[in-house]
Amino acid sequence: MKVLMDKTISPLSWLMLFFAVALSYNFFHVDPAHGKSYCERLYDSARKDYYSLLESERKQRFHDSWEKVIGKFDDLVDRYPECSRAPDALFNMGVLYQKLYRKSWLRGDLTKALESFRKVAESYPKNSLADDALFAAAGILEEMGDKEEAYEVYSSIRSSYSKGDMAKKAGRKLTELADYAPRQEPVETVAVTGDKVNISDIKYWSNPDYTRVVVYGSGKMAFSENQLKKDPVTGKPPRLYVDIMGAAIPRSLCETIPIADGLLLQARVAQYNTTTVRLVLDIDSMKDHRVFSMENPSRLVIDVMGEGGKYADDQPAMETAESSEPLPLAQQFGLSVQKIVLDPGHGGRDPGAVGPNGLKEKDVTLALALRLKPILEERGYQILMTRQADVYVGLEERTAMANDNGADLFISIHTNASRSRKARGVETYFLGVAKTREASETAMLENAISQQALSDLEKILLDLTRTSNLKQSSVLAESIQDSLYAGLSESFGDVRNLGVKQASFYVLIGARMPSVLVETSFISNPGEEKLLSRKDYRDTVSQSLLNGIIKFVRALSSASGPRP
Ligand SMILES: [Zn+2]
Repeated sequence: MKVLMDKTISPLSWLMLFFAVALSYNFFHVDPAHGKSYCERLYDSARKDYYSLLESERKQRFHDSWEKVIGKFDDLVDRYPECSRAPDALFNMGVLYQKLYRKSWLRGDLTKALESFRKVAESYPKNSLADDALFAAAGILEEMGDKEEAYEVYSSIRSSYSKGDMAKKAGRKLTELADYAPRQEPVETVAVTGDKVNISDIKYWSNPDYTRVVVYGSGKMAFSENQLKKDPVTGKPPRLYVDIMGAAIPRSLCETIPIADGLLLQARVAQYNTTTVRLVLDIDSMKDHRVFSMENPSRLVIDVMGEGGKYADDQPAMETAESSEPLPLAQQFGLSVQKIVLDPGHGGRDPGAVGPNGLKEKDVTLALALRLKPILEERGYQILMTRQADVYVGLEERTAMANDNGADLFISIHTNASRSRKARGVETYFLGVAKTREASETAMLENAISQQALSDLEKILLDLTRTSNLKQSSVLAESIQDSLYAGLSESFGDVRNLGVKQASFYVLIGARMPSVLVETSFISNPGEEKLLSRKDYRDTVSQSLLNGIIKFVRALSSASGPRP
């Protein structure tokens, strides 16, 4: 997903504007004889919190700190809509959401900034801030890529506030955006350079707080996204639509896909014009969303996040792996792990890494999982496999399968690879932003994506960390890593312990249970490649994974038992 920086209004000018607003009110609206109204006191208190937030880098890291200040302004607007401070409060909400967006990169924050600015103009059209608010709203629309809509807002500033200080600026913007002026004639078809992308399939996966829609195509897809508000006239629900440029879709796929999972009502896809395929998602409720493209195979992923995540309210979205994470439900209720998903990496047309002597990662991972399955079953666990044969399974399908089946643990099994043939050892990952170049390279390899796509993915992570059981995942990773290292060094001598690390593995994103990815040795190292092909080595790896899982489950059960 592309995030465009808005260069037209710097944070500094916002700040100056804010001070100007604040100052003008001190001059004109305070009546010293009667003291301040309750509304004004609320405003002062909110403004004080605003300053203190701006001064504290630490506070700014938490979504909550922003929400609190915004909440105060919002409360004022709610309770005293007629108060002279209400438009200022609303305007400040817009500024705050916009600043917050620069930290969180959550699309929802920018949308809220837009809504706040729009509301200033809608509710207080005669206020002196109305045209400033519209100008800010138009800037956000531009940033969101909706230049046509931005054009309309700029032109409404010029017509409705022709004498205001924003009219001239709006005029300049209209010249700049002339290409986006509403057209009289239907749009002519544009010749597409290069090959058309053929859309081949659309799938979705539902979860209580998270829905993923994936559009598969024959090549890399260029896209733009847009949101539409609920239409009060036609009663149409709010919509999110994604235009895929230079694409074609067969008629057989052009149908309405009912979803009705509380987040999305349905998905519709059709050939919008000769060069564009449009996917429309009718929204029931949505807190945030991301659209991004992935390769191998080419696909467009639309992740929609809901309001009601299990831990949605008490987790700061921007902090990762905090120790204050609530216990997973299983532990809260004293239940233990029952269902485990084993995920043999790669498969089918995706061989994974290939060793110098031709050993394929996909074959090793499957062999390891097939060994681990029966010995876990002997212990009474129910085991689900994301694949049981040499077949291709998409990364998103693997996580979705674990979520759909309500699994308690998710273990993704891989073999490592490095450009250096000397690299060797075992390491275990859980989800997070990579802290070293090596970790980031491993994630790029496993995700089959570029550096840019990886950094986009890391932004998505910020949305999802609160539901991904990071603390438990890190404990599981430690347990597995310890056992794997201990087991292999006992039987095979000198093994390098690379430890537990974090990186953004796509296959772990969105998993709603403790989940880890194990790199069981380097297939790129000739010595370890040879070991990985041996039956006794595979047995030891599987046995060690079993030990690690059991150790984790025991610790979990004892932690959830009765306490003195
Ligand atoms: Zn792999």
